[in-house]
Amino acid sequence: MRFDVFTLLPETFSPYLQASILQKAAGRGLVDFHIHNIRDYTHDRHHTTDDMPYGGGGGMVMKPEPVFEAVESVLGAPPACPVILLTPQGRVFNQKIAGELAQLPRLALLSGRYEGVDERIREHLVTDEISIGDYVLTGGELPALILIDAITRLLPGVLGDPTGAEDDSHASGLLEYPHYTRPPEFRSWKVPDVLLSGDHGKIARWRREQSLRRTLAKRPDMLEAFELTKEDQKFVDAVKKEER
Ligand code: SAM
Repeated sequence: MRFDVFTLLPETFSPYLQASILQKAAGRGLVDFHIHNIRDYTHDRHHTTDDMPYGGGGGMVMKPEPVFEAVESVLGAPPACPVILLTPQGRVFNQKIAGELAQLPRLALLSGRYEGVDERIREHLVTDEISIGDYVLTGGELPALILIDAITRLLPGVLGDPTGAEDDSHASGLLEYPHYTRPPEFRSWKVPDVLLSGDHGKIARWRREQSLRRTLAKRPDMLEAFELTKEDQKFVDAVKKEER
């Protein structure tokens, strides 16, 4: 998969993209990151990318010309792939959207700064708008990296364990079960016996029940939307009874 990111702060991307799983994925040719500096597509002496808002008010607005030119120079006109604007006004990102975007061969991400982008960019250039949550950051660089990270780890071959992402919280609709590693006892806190039993059937059932239990406790809204098996339902009913 290829990512094309358009930003005023390209230098903010390399530290994260050049570490750990993302770096390895790129090194193995599973993903390609292209970070484009919007400022390179300006033609005035000062490389201006922003201007004052019409109608007055504080803050600056990203000008349309360099953004259109950057995106169209790299992706053609109309753009050869979806162009996502990172904005607190977009649909809220989640695991399902990450999974859908991971099916694409190429994706462009546009990171805003200041008060955001000139409305004509939103209307006539971008094809989708995504928010990473109901809060406002100073720029769209972290949001772009969050999309890149969540999408890349879903690409085939990126995670060492090919089933690694399947049980993750939000992947199946439940929160993931708890994890333990060595030592079996730490400050008198013991790893649950079942995990040391070697009985894979029992371990799978325990994990399922832990997932159900913690989803019920932490995210009951997710459990309501989840299709429970008869066995799951029995377990959830028993937990609810315990709590009464
Ligand atoms: N004035 C804008 C508004 O109220 O909708 C917010 C602008 S914000 C200060 C600057 C840039 O940060 C935005 O253009 C966007 O790219 C990015 N940004 C801030 N919060 C975000 C969020 N929750 N999700 C995605 N991008 C965000």
